[in-house]
Amino acid sequence: MVHILPQLPYKYDALKPFLDTQTMQLHHGKHHQTYVDKLNEALKKYPLIADKKVEELLENNLAIVPEEIKTAIKNHGGGHVNHTIFWESLSPSKQDPSETFKALLEKEFLSFEKFKEMFSNAAITQFGSGWAWLVYNKKTKMLEVFNMPNQNSPISEGKLPLLTLDVWEHAYYLKYQNRRAEYVQAFWNNVNWQKVEERYNSAHKVH
Ligand code: MN
Repeated sequence: MVHILPQLPYKYDALKPFLDTQTMQLHHGKHHQTYVDKLNEALKKYPLIADKKVEELLENNLAIVPEEIKTAIKNHGGGHVNHTIFWESLSPSKQDPSETFKALLEKEFLSFEKFKEMFSNAAITQFGSGWAWLVYNKKTKMLEVFNMPNQNSPISEGKLPLLTLDVWEHAYYLKYQNRRAEYVQAFWNNVNWQKVEERYNSAHKVH
């Protein structure tokens, strides 16, 4: 299987004012595309794993990936999957979590506001490039919030991504320059809670 850039579930200008059209065009059409291209390039010599899903390659700290391309798969496979989850985490219109999911967040993080604060804080305090995550931990069956550097994926640590925010500068610099906190604040108006809940339900059902 050759990995391909997924189409966005909305137009490049649909997330304004959170994200401007040019940022979206570059981020999806150039940055994400490059991760996909480099992932395919790395897999060229390894047809036996080339048709596996990227998530499968990233699982168990890339156990099935040959040493020679481990770093490439971690970076570009991670980059591909992280961006796909990010696009799906966003909605052109403001959504609220369902009562059920909100109750779950309240159970794990004391309140919905407290959860948002923790997630925002993870995004703002990530030093350099990286991502903020809300995940389902398969082992503990609990929700967790944290940040990870570069294109590292929670999937490699047995955690299933539910919601993510890209805090690489390419994600926000054109519009927000050095004001990452403003970008993080604006993000809450465009979270696709329906998708986050769907991810949780399928993760929870299987594990
Ligand atoms: Mn990015």
